[in-house]
Amino acid sequence: MNILVINCGSSSLKYQLIDMDGENAIAKGLVERIGIEGSRVKHETIGKEKQVIEEPMSDHRKALELVMGALVNPEYGAVKSLDEIGAVGHRVVHGGEDFSASVVIDEKVMKAIEKNIELAPLHNPPNIMGIEACQKLLPNIKQVAVFDTAFHQTMSPENYIYAIPYEYYEKHKIRRYGFHGTSHMYITNKTAEILNKNVEDINLITCHLGNGSSISAIKNGKSICTSMGLTPLEGLPMGTRSGNIDPAIVTFLMDKENLNTEEISNVLNKESGVFGISGVSSDFRDIEDAAADGNKRAQLALDIFEENVARFISAYMTEFKSIEDIDAIVFTAGLGENSPETREHIINKLSIFGLEIDENKNNVRGKETIVSSEESSSKVIVVPTDEELMIARDTLKLI
Ligand code: AMP
Repeated sequence: MNILVINCGSSSLKYQLIDMDGENAIAKGLVERIGIEGSRVKHETIGKEKQVIEEPMSDHRKALELVMGALVNPEYGAVKSLDEIGAVGHRVVHGGEDFSASVVIDEKVMKAIEKNIELAPLHNPPNIMGIEACQKLLPNIKQVAVFDTAFHQTMSPENYIYAIPYEYYEKHKIRRYGFHGTSHMYITNKTAEILNKNVEDINLITCHLGNGSSISAIKNGKSICTSMGLTPLEGLPMGTRSGNIDPAIVTFLMDKENLNTEEISNVLNKESGVFGISGVSSDFRDIEDAAADGNKRAQLALDIFEENVARFISAYMTEFKSIEDIDAIVFTAGLGENSPETREHIINKLSIFGLEIDENKNNVRGKETIVSSEESSSKVIVVPTDEELMIARDTLKLI
């Protein structure tokens, strides 16, 4: 069966059509600039020439119409008719406390996703637009919602309640939710497979390091703590997000720079992180290049990032009985998979725990590999993530 995976942003949309018999992507693409001048679909059917379809798209429905058109195009499409799509899996960012697993979408589910808009005002509305458009275009097949927050719903209160008046949790549901759950779950399952263990028996610290970054402690295959919080702003410094800072900086800066809530939110979400420190770029490749050319602020940004990753890993060690109790520290996502230097620097900072990288094995990019030395107290593993496949698997399971 073919499953269509949809990931809608405010002006973009990523899609993949996956043949679940062999778990192979048969087509994938990206729609950019939805609702903005210059909109286009970049489509690729695997094994055929890539296409760029430039056409005005006023909204997500129009964008999805063009995607469906591309999928069935006789020349560069992947299927003969839309009947060959068995179900649609949607990435939904915030499920709040309503969802601890993926669900088949019905009216009740839509209401709950809508209710959670207040927790993810930038993310849930485009997710909803994508679902509604697919319901209209593919009315006869099931749609499934896969939540970024669901995998972390197994955290216990001491790991998700903030030290602010408890009534704000009761009144506004302010608590840690965590994100990247689909990725942390995928690499948890994959690592269990690599180490030949049951997922229920696996203990890990999973590091999703990309433009957005988060770390999770996984005990017996379940997320018990994670670094992102009420929103994806908390935790590590990221491409443009500040991660953890003294909360007093928020009001201090608002006063000093005369910023309103939207402006301070922009500073922390879009102008901070390694971009804010380096002044060079939010892309780690550019920052690594600048640092190699002697740019001190670029080097500082990398040092701060690596220091914070190491600090989170060491903090999460306390969730386990001993370092030997942890099956592996796992690196994934753009930076985690592709930067041997970043992995080496981070693991070197953790030598007090007996962790040790093997330089030769670590010289790898984007490939499933055990990169620790034989002597290392716990394994260090690179596992490429595949959120689309995880969404498709959940979708198939549910239908
Ligand atoms: P993601 O959000 O998972 O797509 O990751 C994007 C981040 O990964 C960007 O900051 C990229 O610079 C970084 N990245 C991708 N490839 C490499 C590489 N070969 N070396 C260093 N960073 C990389």
